[in-house]
Amino acid sequence: MSLIEVLDLHKTYGSTAAVDGLTLSVDEGEVVGILGPNGSGKTTTVECVAGLRRPDGGSVRVAGLNPTSDRRALTRLLGVQLQHAGLQAKLTAREALALYASFYESPVDGADLADRLGIGHKLDERYENLSGGQKQRLAIALALVGKPRIAVLDELTTGLDPRARRGVWEVIEDVRDGGTTVVLVTHFMEEAQRLCDRLVIVAAGRIVAEGSPRDIIGRTGTPTTMSFLPSTPLSERDLVAIPGVTDVHARANGHLDLHLTDPAVLDVLEFLSRHGVIPNGLRVEDSTLDDAFLNLTDTDTASTVPDRELVTDREES
Ligand code: ADP
Ligand code: MG
Repeated sequence: MSLIEVLDLHKTYGSTAAVDGLTLSVDEGEVVGILGPNGSGKTTTVECVAGLRRPDGGSVRVAGLNPTSDRRALTRLLGVQLQHAGLQAKLTAREALALYASFYESPVDGADLADRLGIGHKLDERYENLSGGQKQRLAIALALVGKPRIAVLDELTTGLDPRARRGVWEVIEDVRDGGTTVVLVTHFMEEAQRLCDRLVIVAAGRIVAEGSPRDIIGRTGTPTTMSFLPSTPLSERDLVAIPGVTDVHARANGHLDLHLTDPAVLDVLEFLSRHGVIPNGLRVEDSTLDDAFLNLTDTDTASTVPDRELVTDREES
C-alpha cells in the first residue's frame, strides 16, 4: 500500500471548488512534486494531507492514519513547511528548532541543519527579526528537524535567491537519500526536475498530467521548440498547417516560437526556403518542462485566479 493515499478529494470554499476530484498516491521513499498555476488547489491539497483542513469529499490516508482525526499520531511522522506559516514573533530560531525537535522520536541536530540551510548565524535571532528568505529557510528546517518519515513542503524555495535555493536542494537531496518520502509544491521547473521522481500537474483542482519529469516533457507530443525571426513577415496559419507543428506564437519583437515534432523541423525549413524567407537567429531546442507546463495548464480558469493571502479556516487547529 502507498504511504499517502488521496482518493477523489474535494474541497470547496463558498462557491470555489479549490480541489475538485483529485486522486494521488505516493509510495514510501518517493519524492513527488506538485506543480500548477496559482489558485489551482495545491496548498489546499497538501493541507488536507497534513490534517490542517478537513476534506468535503473523498478520503486521505497517510501511513494508514486519517490526518484530521489522528493528528497527534501523524505529527510524529510528518514534517510540514506551510506556505503561510507564522511562528511566535519572540521565539528565536534556536528555540523554535528545539521545540519542533521535541515532537519527534529521533530528531537531527537543528543547529547543523540551520547551518546547511545558510541560517546558522541567525540561530539566536527572534523570528520577527528574520528576513523573508530566512523565515522561509527556518520553516524548511522546522519541517525537517524531526527527521520525519514524510515531509510536506509547500512552495519549497519560492522567494529564495538562487544560492539559497541550491542550498535547500542539497538538503532535500540528503533527506531523500535518507529515505524520507517528500511531497513538495514548487513553481520552479529546474527544482522539479532535479528533486522529483514524479510530478503531478494540477489545474483547477484536478490532476491534468502525472509522470516522471521526462514523461511529462514528452507528454505534450512536441519534443522540440524552434524559434527565429523571419526575414519577411509570415502567416502563422501557414506554419501551423505544416504537419507536426502544434503551435506557433509570435513575440512582440517579431520572433516566432514553434512547438513541433523533430521531423517537422526539416519541413519548416523547407517551407521557409521555398518562400525565400531567412530564419534569422534560428534556434532549435528540446522542449523543456516549462513548455510542457504551459501547454498542460493552458486553461482559461487556471491563470487568472489570484493566490490568496492567508489561511482563514483552520478548522482543525
Ligand atoms: P494554490 O496553492 O494552488 O495556489 P490554493 O489551494 O491555495 O491554491 O487555493 C485554491 C483555490 O481556493 C483558490 O481559488 C483560492 O482562492 C481558494 N481558497 C483557498 N483557501 C481559501 C479560503 N480559506 N477561503 C476561501 N477561498 C480559499
Ligand atoms: Mg499555494
